[in-house]
Amino acid sequence: MEKLASKLAGIKTVAIAGHVRPDGDCIGSCMGLYLYLKENELDIKCDVYLETAKEGFSYIKNLEEAKQEYDSQAEYDLLILLDVSSPDRIGVAGEALKTAKKTICLDHHISNHGFADENLIEPEMSSASELLFHLLEEEKITKDVAEAIYTGIASDTGVFKYSCTSPETMRVVAKLMEKGIDFSSIIDQSFYEKSYVQNQILGRCLMESIQVLDKKCIIGCLRKRDLDFYGVGPKELDGIVEQLRLTRGVEVAVFIYETKTQEFKVSLRSKSKVDVNKIASYFSGGGHVRAAGCTMQGSIYDVMNNLLKQIEKEIKEKMQ
Ligand code: 5GP
Ligand code: MN
Ligand code: MN
Repeated sequence: MEKLASKLAGIKTVAIAGHVRPDGDCIGSCMGLYLYLKENELDIKCDVYLETAKEGFSYIKNLEEAKQEYDSQAEYDLLILLDVSSPDRIGVAGEALKTAKKTICLDHHISNHGFADENLIEPEMSSASELLFHLLEEEKITKDVAEAIYTGIASDTGVFKYSCTSPETMRVVAKLMEKGIDFSSIIDQSFYEKSYVQNQILGRCLMESIQVLDKKCIIGCLRKRDLDFYGVGPKELDGIVEQLRLTRGVEVAVFIYETKTQEFKVSLRSKSKVDVNKIASYFSGGGHVRAAGCTMQGSIYDVMNNLLKQIEKEIKEKMQ
């Protein structure tokens, strides 16, 4: 794969940005690239834009330098987007898509149609972080960079177990481990650790979940009043859909939470057959075959009805 360095000739200022509600892959790939440029490309002035993420990533070096607000005075020669599947998913730095002299998107979403000037979309890769690894020169990857990239791969592979994990992913992971990273602690902090209230709300959601479509589909839902009661925000709901997906016999797991009146964020996961990207795309969302999401308007009854119609169609088609 052609290295990123070939794209940096003559570039003096770079903005790096990820997607809204950044996850581990988004943070890991953006910070991995930021630290790499900072540590190796001393002539380039680099800014990284990331919305505040859930807790647990504080071990990533210089994460506090990530900007949460876009500097509209800033002029960038190059905008590099990582893990961003469509223009409307760019977080705080959305404006830079129009103002930067050149834009590059490095992504692995099957739903990405290529909206930047240059697009490197590799749906076969587990994560944007794995893709990034191949674009960097291995000997210039420091321990700090390795920690960030490892975080991203561990996050999008569900700690190396989702079907997006390939032998090549594991070869990359091995090379990152050789940089001396504390992989056990990274996995615990970024993936498994939960606060007390997070555990409580997970329990509540599981307790009230329902199985439908011959138990092939499970739905968990949290209303605004539940989130307020426990004092948890959207950033603290990671892992709920995964626990739903692990329910024996289930093919499709759905996790819905209310963002505001008549608006719901939907997370979809499938085990082995159903294409949830197709379902999410039907509702103007996107993602991957086994993990996708969308935002839906209406009452919770409308949302569930509309979703279930599409899920039933997909289950019938794929599981006959
Ligand atoms: P999650 O359910 O964890 O929020 O997201 C799962 C996958 O679906 C991620 O790869 C994410 O990028 C994608 N995704 C989630 N929500 C949306 C959405 O509203 N639009 C698009 N295009 N992709 C989404
Ligand atoms: Mn992501
Ligand atoms: Mn990703």
